[in-house]
Amino acid sequence: MEIRTERDVLVLAKTIAANEFPVERPGVIAQDRASGALLRLAPFPWKGADTDPPVQRWAWLQLAAARDERDPRPETYTVDGAIVPTGYVDAKEGWRLRWPFVRPHLRGSVRALVELSRARSSTMGFVRPEPDLDIIQLPLRLRFRCASDDCDATHELPVLDWELHEMARASRERHGQQWATKFRETWGRPLFEKYDVHILVSAYAQSPTKFYVAGLFYPPRAPEDAHEHMHHVAHREHAHGEPAAP
Ligand SMILES: [Zn+2]
Repeated sequence: MEIRTERDVLVLAKTIAANEFPVERPGVIAQDRASGALLRLAPFPWKGADTDPPVQRWAWLQLAAARDERDPRPETYTVDGAIVPTGYVDAKEGWRLRWPFVRPHLRGSVRALVELSRARSSTMGFVRPEPDLDIIQLPLRLRFRCASDDCDATHELPVLDWELHEMARASRERHGQQWATKFRETWGRPLFEKYDVHILVSAYAQSPTKFYVAGLFYPPRAPEDAHEHMHHVAHREHAHGEPAAP
């Protein structure tokens, strides 16, 4: 029995489809205003092609959604009927208005999320990567380590983030054969110097312990945070006896 409820949701990320195992339908990851929970709205009824979504990240939408009982992930909902944009959350004042939608869903590491996903309690969340993140091509994926002591894996997750795919495409058109190098320069370490990078990851329905990148978030780094970060890097170099990447 599907119970369809009118909701106000805030769009955090838009994701493209994956057509090979594990497959994924194009979707929107949003926060439900009433419950504060993250929802995966999939398949999202784009008005045009999914390369030209009618919705903006950080837009409030009013829509009707029902839990998708065929999807084992508890946060997956199907959308039905009209979708009405009702507002937008601005990035002003160092993300003062946006942070409250990210912080509650911050998890320690991908490893912690795998455990939650295996238990079917939560299959999405934000993680903070170490600054040696790398973006690799064909297919587009992120290689990173969690900024956490309880996960020492190097993850290489497929990117289904619509925005990153669009930027890769634009970079290809602009830089030709040099694009991959340019793209890595933009999305690598320089990004971390200015921004407090967070990755929104989601498990696949067909494979709950496998994750993909649903969105990349880069709020401005607060001055005290940059200071704390330098200490962290210095500590790592000391611990492993290896120099920092240039
Ligand atoms: Zn990890």
